[in-house]
Amino acid sequence: MFLPATPEELRELGWDRLDVILVTGDSYLDSPFVGVSVIGQSLLKAGYRVGIIAQPDVDTAADITRLGEPALFWGVTGGCIDSLVANRTASGKKRREDDFTAGGINNRRPDRAVIVYANLIRRWFKATKPIVLGGIEASLRRIAHYDAWSNRVRRSILIDARADLLVYGMGEKTVIELAARLKEGRGVPDLRGLCTIAAEKVPGTVELPSFDEAAADRAAFTEMFLGFYRNQDHRTAQPLCQRQDSRWLIHNPPMPPLTEAEMDDVHGMDFERDVHPHDLRKGKVRALETIRFSIPTHRGCYGECHFCAIAVHEGRTVSSRSEASILQEAKRLVSLPDFKGYILDVGGPTANMYGFECKKKLLRGACPEKRCLYPSVCTSLRPDHGRQVSLLKKLRRIPGIKAAVVASGIRYDLVLADRKAGLPYLSEVVRHHVSGQMKIAPEHSEEKVLACMGKPGRDGLIAFRDLFRRLTTEADKEQFLTYYLIAAHPGCTEKDMEAAHRFASRELAIRPEQVQLFTPTPSTVSTLMYHTKRDPFSGRTLFVEQSAAGRERQKKILVAKKGLLRYEISQLNQATKEEESWVRTKTSKKKPRRNLPKR
Ligand code: SF4
Repeated sequence: MFLPATPEELRELGWDRLDVILVTGDSYLDSPFVGVSVIGQSLLKAGYRVGIIAQPDVDTAADITRLGEPALFWGVTGGCIDSLVANRTASGKKRREDDFTAGGINNRRPDRAVIVYANLIRRWFKATKPIVLGGIEASLRRIAHYDAWSNRVRRSILIDARADLLVYGMGEKTVIELAARLKEGRGVPDLRGLCTIAAEKVPGTVELPSFDEAAADRAAFTEMFLGFYRNQDHRTAQPLCQRQDSRWLIHNPPMPPLTEAEMDDVHGMDFERDVHPHDLRKGKVRALETIRFSIPTHRGCYGECHFCAIAVHEGRTVSSRSEASILQEAKRLVSLPDFKGYILDVGGPTANMYGFECKKKLLRGACPEKRCLYPSVCTSLRPDHGRQVSLLKKLRRIPGIKAAVVASGIRYDLVLADRKAGLPYLSEVVRHHVSGQMKIAPEHSEEKVLACMGKPGRDGLIAFRDLFRRLTTEADKEQFLTYYLIAAHPGCTEKDMEAAHRFASRELAIRPEQVQLFTPTPSTVSTLMYHTKRDPFSGRTLFVEQSAAGRERQKKILVAKKGLLRYEISQLNQATKEEESWVRTKTSKKKPRRNLPKR
């Protein structure tokens, strides 16, 4: 069932008061892919009365008061994406469209939604129940962090939002335990996965440089970040504290990741896989087109790409579902009236991390000074794609399924490192689970940039490309690889982009189309580099392109047509308009072009 979102639904359920009210920056999609929906359904299953208010009007009391006041707590999230990432492009421009808003127009989610919603609650409910922050926006901003949109170090969002508690990471277990303790009047200071505020420093916590020190000094900021980053494994993490003005932020160690049985319980819940009728009146939600018929197989990622927020939010330990649970979900999809026979994605943050983990990590925690996949796949990891091959074969055989696509990105280094099942896996995917193109994310070609990204070198990419081509030819298919690349990452210069352009056209024989501008998402290693202009591990100074024009220029170098490698930009006016004139490389005798090339 949908969580109730209107007073009429409360009346129908015969509920006079809710225990928990969740407030979200997205339209309400009841789906296993949507965090607030998973949290709400988990609480419901645990016996709590939960309601949801999606994208409330922040100027009036109408929406925020419509379900009354909860008996236990308010839960506030910005939605599936940090509100600034959702609302602004990497260049800072306002996005017009929103895949998580009914009707598709980006006019419902405020910037810094978590802060705005917490203030909205305080405005209309003065001395109310605790306000608990959650979701990715709260998770990434849980300690002092660099915020690129305001170009400054900000306090924990818990302080800025004037909220009471913050649940970080994958929050089901923490939230259920929190609800139980609040109901029984027990304290929560030791609850894992939680950040709290204290008047005094708590004994036994490791003190990070204070907010003031981190804001004033980049070396202190780096020390703070690394202290935070190295205390995110539930087996080894210490409780942390950080002075923020006159108070102390307390960061408890993470909750252990879900076991396979717990993952199955979460995904066995009765999600509607649809938009709540209250929101559907405003139009369709585009995100649903992909996630309605997709199946999440696992969560977490040990790739630790420096620009990616998944490790900070979902953790570095992969939790997988059982095969039986996934097959059961596939059968449920087949029974939906509008299912056309195609599962649009079977995957997770990285498709082929399903079904295996490092045994050492599971026993003793992630290695503090070693990485699972960089600079090469750790010998202790022992990748094994066997379970994935078995799962994909069984999915294909379910009556009513014409195809189950692996659309999530694949780590090609893991495929190559699995000597036993890597080739059968890729063969299986190439023959039956690619819909024309397979996504891989080399991100760049130049070693020094790849090192800044925490990504492996180009040799593996070429080996994988060759293998993919061979298997595709053998399967007599017409399909290709799509390469995801990043421009303007810290450490990347225009010369590096020119080299990447040459590599793409000469070695890969492509003109890149999937090129993203680096977005400095809070609390990632790359954002630390962006802010400090240093590699935090080696201490090396880095070139960082921070100007909007320079960042765009890097992207345009990569997507330029053959022979258009260099160009100049002349500012026509001091505001935003630029006229860009591209010039041919020195070997060309043609006149310079005056307009941007069409993409
Ligand atoms: S032993 Fe290797 S795979 Fe395991 S946690 Fe350490 S670095 Fe990762």
